[in-house]
This record gives sequence, structure tokens and C-alpha cells, in this order.
Amino acid sequence: MEALEVLIVCLIVSSAVLVIYVLQPLVEKFLLARKRKAFGAQEDFYRELIAKHIPYFHRLDEEQQAKFLFRTFLFQKAKKFHYVGVRQSPEMPILISAVATQLTLGLEKFSLNYFRDIFVLEHDYHYGYYSLPFMGHVDSSGIYFSWNDFMQGIKNNPDSSNVGLHEMAHALAYVNFVTKTDEDKHFKKEFKNFSKVARPIYQEMQKGRKTLLGEYACTNYHEFWAVSVEMFFENSVRFKHELPQLYAAMANLLNQDPIEQIKYKRNIIYRQIRTTHVVH
Ligand SMILES: [Zn+2]
Repeated sequence: MEALEVLIVCLIVSSAVLVIYVLQPLVEKFLLARKRKAFGAQEDFYRELIAKHIPYFHRLDEEQQAKFLFRTFLFQKAKKFHYVGVRQSPEMPILISAVATQLTLGLEKFSLNYFRDIFVLEHDYHYGYYSLPFMGHVDSSGIYFSWNDFMQGIKNNPDSSNVGLHEMAHALAYVNFVTKTDEDKHFKKEFKNFSKVARPIYQEMQKGRKTLLGEYACTNYHEFWAVSVEMFFENSVRFKHELPQLYAAMANLLNQDPIEQIKYKRNIIYRQIRTTHVVH
């Protein structure tokens, strides 16, 4: 090889390295700053809507709330929402994105890449050869929700079901273990530890053990995972009391603990009340 050829090859390699390691992060940083600016004008609308409908939001401190809102915005912008037989409203994509953000708030990766399409239907619907209607499902073509059931799920109701969280839990497992398109290092590593605790409980339930997770969690291990996620957020105190090891494994896996968040907020309220009391 001539000296000139060597020089050209070296130049090509060093330009590639420059683009990948230096320019790409700079471009990403620039694009993120632009998105943050665009979000600034809409932040109040997001905050009002999410504060009204997502009880979880009130457990977060100010910094976490800001992170939650911006991630919801980024998630929504990255997806294409399809409305099937239902009148589109501005809160639909925001609330669906907020539920995905709730699940992944403690993780680094939150975009559930691979899923670009989210389908919103009005009521529960029939799918494939199943005889029972669906409230939602996830398959290779996208994430599907019945809007009525989605809204029912995010209300603070005693049945602990939340179809939004349920389907996002399937989607999170899908992008980490099936398509491997949006792998979160922490989640993948900790899922093994989660399963060490979860598998034996799942197997005992298949043999007849009754737990707060209910019958549907016995269907298969995927459903056990998705129902555990719903219960973790919707019925945290009872979950921790009845299945403490599974609760701890889930908190570790998702890198967040709904009960601790509540305690933290309570501390703040307590201090405010004391201060007020002293002053007056
Ligand atoms: Zn499911």
C-alpha cells in the first residue's frame, strides 16, 4: 500500500471516529435542548392534565415531577397514535405516554423503542381467536388499548387493575428481551434477580397458592410479570405486606419504590405543618 493510500484510510477512520464519538453526542445534546425549549410552552398543559388524572404524579418531588413531564413529552413525540372508532382528544396521547413514563421513571431507557405505533380503541374488543374481549394487548405491530378501560385503570379504584401499566409492562419486557431494541442495562441485569424471587411464587400459584395477584397472574409468566407491575403501583402497601420479597425485588428492578415516595412526600407536608404551627 502506498503512503498516500495509508493516509487516506487513516483519514477516513479518524473522521468516522470523530462523527461517532464527538459529533453525535453534540448533535443529540443540541436536539434535546431544542425539544426542551419546545416543551417549555406546553409544560403547564401537561402538568395540569397529568396532575388531574395520574395519582402517582403527586407522590413525586419537584425534580422528579419535572423529569416525569419531560419524559412524557419525549415519549409522546416519538410515537404515532392511531384512533380506531374513537374520537381523538388531546389528553389521550399524553396520558398514555404518562403511564409508560411512570413504569420506567427509575430506568435510564424509557422510549420503548421498537414500538412506534400505539392504537386507541373505544371499548374492549375482540382479537384473534380469543373468545373473551381484550382491554389491551401488545404484539409486533404495536401497543393497543381500549380507551374506556385505560381511563378506568388510571382512576384510583379498589380493583388494583390498570390496563395502561399492564400493557406497558409487556412492552418493556418485549424491547428488552425479544427485539432487544431498547435494552436498559440495569433492568436486564436485575430481571434475573427478580425472577429468582418471582418464579417460585409463580410456580406455587400454579399449584394453587392464592395471593393478591389473583388467578390471571397464573396464565403464564408474562402475565405474572404484568399483573405484578399493576399491583406494585396500584396496591403497594398490601403487596409489600403480603409478598415482601417480591415487592423488594420489583422496587430494585424498576429502581423506584411507590411507598417510599409517599413517605417522602408526607415528610415534607409534616415539616410545613410544623413550621406553620411555630410561626403562628
Ligand atoms: Zn397481559
